[in-house]
Amino acid sequence: MIETDILIIGAGPTGLFTVFEAGLLKLRTHIIDALPQPGGQCAEIYPKKPIYDIPAFPEILAGDLVENLMQQIEPFEPGFTLAERAETLEKLDDGSFIVTTNKGTKHHAPVVVIAGGLGSFEPRKPLISNLADFEDKGVVYMIKDPEVYRNKKVVISGGGDSALDWAIFLADVASEVSLVHRRNEFRGALDSVEKASELAKLGKIKLFTQAEVVRLYGDDNLEAVVVKHNDEGKGESYVETDYFIPLFGLSPKLGPIGNWGLEIEKNAIKVNNAYDYQTNIAGVYAIGDVNTYPGKLKLILSGFHEAAVMCQSAYQKINPGKRYVMKYTTVGGVEGFDGSKKEAKKEVVQSITA
Ligand SMILES: Cc1cc2nc3c(=O)[nH]c(=O)nc-3n(C[C@H](O)[C@H](O)[C@H](O)COP(=O)(O)OP(=O)(O)OC[C@H]3O[C@@H](n4cnc5c(N)ncnc54)[C@H](O)[C@@H]3O)c2cc1C
Repeated sequence: MIETDILIIGAGPTGLFTVFEAGLLKLRTHIIDALPQPGGQCAEIYPKKPIYDIPAFPEILAGDLVENLMQQIEPFEPGFTLAERAETLEKLDDGSFIVTTNKGTKHHAPVVVIAGGLGSFEPRKPLISNLADFEDKGVVYMIKDPEVYRNKKVVISGGGDSALDWAIFLADVASEVSLVHRRNEFRGALDSVEKASELAKLGKIKLFTQAEVVRLYGDDNLEAVVVKHNDEGKGESYVETDYFIPLFGLSPKLGPIGNWGLEIEKNAIKVNNAYDYQTNIAGVYAIGDVNTYPGKLKLILSGFHEAAVMCQSAYQKINPGKRYVMKYTTVGGVEGFDGSKKEAKKEVVQSITA
């Protein structure tokens, strides 16, 4: 059981900044995210796009914003449960909560804050009749640790950046990499397309274009896939493999949070914005894109503000009767933050996010 003071669901900009605000109040935090990396929409949808409305940053790339947030929260040493979706919420008699993920990891905290944005990003799955039989037995939809694939045979399908980038990366890790795409043209960045074609010429990637995986074979675990060639007369290829990784993108869904007994309006969680962004379940807050109230603006800066307000309320819940005097960070500083170590910290953050 993972124990913390504030359990945060969602590692988007709002969830990450909550770690900072909670840390100023000396509250421990732990974050769950369904994605294998922190950053929410900024990291998953538009890491290379510039954002122009983050106060004091005339322009910042979404990916750099996430990197800066990771650096800012590093002194508070938050815990992370990544690549797992928060599935159930159970309220205990003492008012605290247990949140369990789809992989069975249990987290216990007196306060839960949902910073789930548009919802958890669910993989788009290809229509293959026995796909579900091999999930976690060779079929995976997200690559969390590339070392898992060392000296293994891997079939990746998809035509976007993710499929290309992972095929290129795994060409040096796996014993065999096949990349299967329905069309002749890839949608990914030009340099990735060129690199993949180069590796195909060198025999480091087996490229199947105008083709798709249509069947899976194996006893307990996946052993082979059948690739159907869509241009006439070419038939099918039987490709032995340990892993099949369809990378067709992710689509957000409110998902299991919608069944937790929270008041929902238009796919968002209703909160009390006059006070502290608490939901209809005492001790459960909702902040950032996932909540709704009159006048709500779905912007990153709204999430930051809501995180600050919500943490003050959580402090009172966790420390009933204890008086907290708010100090400016210019006065109180940030415990554990040493400007001279900024560069070293940046490296740590990069290795976490890599
Ligand atoms: C193309 C694009 C451009 C944008 N440009 C701007 C801009 O210029 N300025 C601006 O202010 N905003 C912009 N936005 C909006 C901004 O990205 C969002 O307001 C912001 O990401 C909201 O942050 P968040 O942390 O609340 O949610 P998100 O970033 O959506 O993060 C939520 C996280 O919660 C996780 N999650 C959800 N449910 C679960 C669950 N059950 N279990 C585990 N994890 C879960 C998700 O996987 C996700 O990582 C843009 C959005 C897009 C798509």
